[in-house]
Formats: sequence, structure tokens, C-alpha cells
Amino acid sequence: MVTIQNYIDGSFQPAVSGRVLENRRPRDGLVFGSLPASTKGDVDLAVTAARRAFPAWRKTSRQERAHWLRKIADTIEQRLDLFVAAESEDQGKPEWLARRVDIPRAVENFRFFAGAILHQEESAFESQCDVLNYTLRQPLGVAGLISPWNLPLYLLTWKIAPALACGNAVVAKPSELTPYTAHLLAQVLADIEFPRGVCNIVHGLGSEVGDALVGHPDVPLVSFTGGTATAQKISERAAPFAKKLSLELGGKNPALIFADCALDAAVETTLRSSFTNQGEICLCTSRIFIERSLWPRFSEAFLAGVHKLRVGDPRREDTKLGALVSEAHRFKVDGFVQRAVKAGAKLLAGGKMASIPGELSAGYYYEPTVLFTEDPTLEIMQEEVFGPVVTVSLFENYDEALSLANSTRYGLAATIWTQNLSVAHRAAAELDCGLVWVNTWMNRDLRVPFGGNKASGVGREGGRHSLEFYTEEKNICLQL
Ligand code: NAD
Repeated sequence: MVTIQNYIDGSFQPAVSGRVLENRRPRDGLVFGSLPASTKGDVDLAVTAARRAFPAWRKTSRQERAHWLRKIADTIEQRLDLFVAAESEDQGKPEWLARRVDIPRAVENFRFFAGAILHQEESAFESQCDVLNYTLRQPLGVAGLISPWNLPLYLLTWKIAPALACGNAVVAKPSELTPYTAHLLAQVLADIEFPRGVCNIVHGLGSEVGDALVGHPDVPLVSFTGGTATAQKISERAAPFAKKLSLELGGKNPALIFADCALDAAVETTLRSSFTNQGEICLCTSRIFIERSLWPRFSEAFLAGVHKLRVGDPRREDTKLGALVSEAHRFKVDGFVQRAVKAGAKLLAGGKMASIPGELSAGYYYEPTVLFTEDPTLEIMQEEVFGPVVTVSLFENYDEALSLANSTRYGLAATIWTQNLSVAHRAAAELDCGLVWVNTWMNRDLRVPFGGNKASGVGREGGRHSLEFYTEEKNICLQL
């Protein structure tokens, strides 16, 4: 059994209340550990520790902070096997995915921001020959960081690394469904003797810990990645304090597949963009729009590919889809599918829970599912499912494709498949979303602006955007 504790002021502690939550393993549905059921009291302790540590941390040089970030990265890398097994055990994802993507990316988050902070520039403005304005970028204090369960360590460190690099102290709240690798990160911090109180991790429910963190008067900025409905609550809670907010939220990402595309690449990548991590990535494709004349060839190859995707034991190298994160989430996904079928969508593949015989029979598996519909108003075409479920629909021409793609309240990411450069550029500009991939998917450069439009978010993360979020500019005007 894995006993997870809060990490506050450099020491591991149970929740003030003494209560714990069960941690279940998605691959077999069994309880394999516990985490603290923290409350406001624990958040208060963490914020107090962070406030105490902030003045000394902000005074450290950029080189010193970069050194600490690299040390964290190196230590996670040395413990790769441990982190990989923990991420898969906690989240349900295939181990190979955690090994190739999640944990290396967490390492890269620290290394990237260790470099970025050394290259950050500030400005100076000579107004008249005897008046000089210059601008400092300064940390804000205690950063409240709230992350989801789909890419647990990857997204948590995407916030922790720039917050620390900029000189803030941190109170982080990982998802209660996937606390394990955050706990291993805390062990790394303890083992390398990272300065006490600078980075605190408090576990528990969003309605308790997350709410207390967002409502804490001494936490001036909150970075949140999660669902749009939660973001609404966070915005309301933060509004009276006029806090600085970054919101990275849900998506309903379209793939526009034009008849002139390179078909094999479009099929292979759309299979990946639809079903990687069981479809539990905010950037996953969820609506596929195909030019009508391509449909016979596309559907044959795509559905053949879907039928080959192996659902099963996340520890096996040949497993393509592991388990969904929880039983509740599996029911939620299934509910979307059953309602779509009732509303007239046609099931082309999957459509039900998958059962793995033997010791994994109680795991939360779901078949990769493809639904055909031409009705963009259906719930399945409008609401985020966040599981291994895609819709396919046909379009006649460019205008129809664009109008269908833009017809939801979300605007996170899109993919375009065409060999026509003019169509690609025009569609990329006209799609109402924050990220567009042309003839590729999830090709990430950590410097580029990352974030969504409409209900998919507020603000951008990545590169200088993160450095700008985690600092505030101060202008100084000097009469010489
Ligand atoms: P969620 O909103 O339920 O939870 C996210 C985090 O917020 C968790 O740590 C949770 O405990 C906390 N939380 C819940 N209620 C809270 C409250 N009232 N106050 C403060 N914190 C609270 O989301 P989830 O189910 O964990 O994650 C799935 C969602 O995240 C999907 O919508 C997905 O698209 C989105 N997501 C977005 C991105 C992105 O970069 N845009 C990346 C990954 C996931």
C-alpha cells in the first residue's frame, strides 16, 4: 500500500484532520494506497510556509534557481522506472506512454525553464535624453497551482517549473485521482534538500483543497488546468481578490481531413490523436470531419486501424489503450455514447465497456469508439467526452468544413490534413482555437504559446508566456 502525505515546509505530513482518501488503481479497480483528505487547515499551513520561504527564494540568482531545476530534472530522470510505474498504476495509461512521453516531458519542463529563465530579458526606454524608463519582471509571491489527472506529472511540472524559475514560492494541488507521482516529486525535493517551504504539495479534493487555495488571500496568482465547469467556480472564487488567473480547459477538437491529404499519414495520426492515453488528453481529436469523396477510402483504413488497437494491461508493451482513470469516468464516457446512439448517431466501432479476463477484470477499460453523425447539434458533437470516443461527419466543401469545426463553445486545438498550402493557411487562420497542427499532431515546442479560445481557456502558457504569467512587470522612471 502506498501512503501519500502532504509535503509542507520540507516535511511529509498527514492531513490536519487525520482523514484519508482511498487511491484506486484503474487497471484492476483495487485500492492500492491512500492520500490525505486535506482541508483549509492544511492549505493555511502550506501557504504560511511558502510565504515564509518566498523572500529568500526570490533573492536567489537566476543561475541558482536554474541549478535547482536541473537537479530536480536529473533526479527524476535517475528514478525513471519508479515514476513510469507509478504514473501508469495511478492513471491507467500504458507504461510505454509514461516512459516515452509523460515522465521525459516532466524532466524537460524543469530543464526547459531552467534555460528559459537565464534568457529572459527586461526592457529599457529612453524617453528624453535625461529620462530613462526601465522595467523589472518580479515574482508575485505564492503561486497556487491546480492540475488534472490525465497527464499528472507532466501538467503539474509544466506549472511548478516556471513558477519556481521566476522566483515564486508554490503551493501545488494535484488531482485527487492521481496523486502518486506528485508524491514522488516531493520525495525528490526532500532528497536533494531543496529549500524548505519553497515548493509545497497538498493533496485532497478540489472542493476542499482547491477551493481553499483559490480563496486564500495570500495566494495572488492561480494557474489551473482542468474542466471548464471547475474553471467557472475558480473564476468566481478568485474574482473578489482580483487574482491573476491562467485557465487551461477542455476541448472538442476537430480534425479537418481534405480529399487531397496524404491518406496513410492522416489515418495513422488521426488514430493516435483520437485514442492516445485512452483519449484522455485535452488535445485529442474528438470530431473528425472528412471531405465526402474521401470517406470510402478513409473509413476503410481508419476502422481497420481502430479494430487493431489493443485495449488491456497497461504494463504490456503492445497495449495501445490502458484503463480509464476511474469507474465514475468510465460511466460518464459510456453515458455520452449511449445517449448519442439514442439520438441517432450510428456506431461504427466500440461503444461499450471492455472487460479484460483474469486479475484485471474489475479494471476500467473502454473500447475505442467511433460514431457517425451528420448532426452537429448532438450532445456528442458539442460536449467534451474526454475518453476513447470520436465522431465522424462528412463535409462537401471548405466553407462547410470550417463552419462545422467552429460550431462548438470550445476552441482549444485542431488538426488539418491537406497538401494544398493555401487551404492549410486559410483554414489555420479561420479556425477559432489556440493551436492548429497541419499534417501532424501534438508536435510540441515548449516555447510556443499554448492555450485555448472561448470555453477552452484564458491566457497562454509556454516559453515567455509562462515567464510573463509568473511575474509582474514593474516600470521605474528615472530623471537623470
Ligand atoms: P477537474 O476540473 O475536475 O479537476 C482539475 C483539478 O481541479 C483537480 O485537481 C481538482 O481537484 C481541482 N478542483 C476541482 N474542483 C475545484 C474547485 N472548486 N476549486 C479548485 N480546484 C478544484 O478536471 P479533471 O477531470 O481533473 O481533468 C479533465 C479536464 O481537464 C478536461 O476538461 C480536460 O480537457 C482538461 N484539461 C485541459 C488541458 C489544457 O491544457 N487545456 C490539459 C489537460 C486537461
